[in-house]
Amino acid sequence: MKRFFKYSHIIGIIGIVVNLILFMTNRYYELVIPFFENTMEDGYLFTFIDYLTYLTPMIFMVLFLAYLIAGRIYMRNHNLKVEEQETVKLVEKNNEIQKSLDEKAEFLKHKYYTNCPNCGAARQENRNVCVFCGASLIIGNNKDKKE
Ligand SMILES: [Zn+2]
Repeated sequence: MKRFFKYSHIIGIIGIVVNLILFMTNRYYELVIPFFENTMEDGYLFTFIDYLTYLTPMIFMVLFLAYLIAGRIYMRNHNLKVEEQETVKLVEKNNEIQKSLDEKAEFLKHKYYTNCPNCGAARQENRNVCVFCGASLIIGNNKDKKE
């Protein structure tokens, strides 16, 4: 659907201009009507085809105009949807960054042992518990427990 409407503004305008020229110069009528003149007798049907042939570029102009308008409306809605999705993505990304910043801020509130008070292993970077035995490495916490 998007592919169908993507260039509707260009195709629509070209279609309208071409058919306007065909209509104003009577080119299409001159090309088509001799074929019917040679094969048909005068009558209501011929009169109808005569008018129809005369008006065909006009009909095509209206169709191209409808295509152009429908295409513009579709593409506008499509672009709005894309913008909305991008906004949602940005908000999600922002929330993730905020979350990791909050975690970092929470981490920096405390002081940590460089070595585990329980098993003596060195503290891994950005960890508040010992990766070997699970003991808390927060200095304040252990003090509280002792008291
Ligand atoms: Zn430990």
